Amino acid sequence: MKTIGLIGGMSWESSLEYYRIINEVVRERLGGLHSAKSLMVSVDFAEIEVLQHRGEWEEATQFMVEAAHQLQRGRADCLLICTNTMHKMADRVQAEIDIPLIHIADATAAEVLRQGCHTVGLLGTRFTMEEDFYRGRLVEKHGLKVLVPDAADRTVVHDVIYDELCLGVIEPDSKKRYLNIIGSMVAQGAEGIILGCTEIG
Ligand code: GLU
Repeated sequence: MKTIGLIGGMSWESSLEYYRIINEVVRERLGGLHSAKSLMVSVDFAEIEVLQHRGEWEEATQFMVEAAHQLQRGRADCLLICTNTMHKMADRVQAEIDIPLIHIADATAAEVLRQGCHTVGLLGTRFTMEEDFYRGRLVEKHGLKVLVPDAADRTVVHDVIYDELCLGVIEPDSKKRYLNIIGSMVAQGAEGIILGCTEIG
């Protein structure tokens, strides 16, 4: 069995889900007491969040490259970054290591296409919704049409992620606001919605 390397902790709330789901899938496929071989480097998200919001992406990239090296040294066979946002530097990380980085946008696009959708709404952090590293890949590499919420709604989605979901807080009122935002994207033609932030699900 190959060993999956994970860069987690962004936030740890969602890394828990990665660990649970990966192990559940291995149990489903192999049965019995089988479980996944994995290694995780879990960062202190407070340090990362500060760099993100100050726009200090070079320093953030160095953190990610260091974590990827740790996993490679630990003999991981492949690498996952357990956050959509930090795929902003995925190409830089891949260039520094010899093991393959499985890009979250490629895995997502494969599932979107498998479900027969071509126009999707995207929820995520402001970085994921507004910049090109994720949306651009869905559009250019996978031929999807990607809708995002308007500016006011993007602020709601972004703030709920950092102020609530990454702290493990799930407010019924925020869930309602998310559902309304999803409703407007469906009204604009979205056939499916990408929960493009690992805490939203
Ligand atoms: N986990 C989130 C994501 O998937 C947000 C936290 C982060 O900024 O890394 O983008």
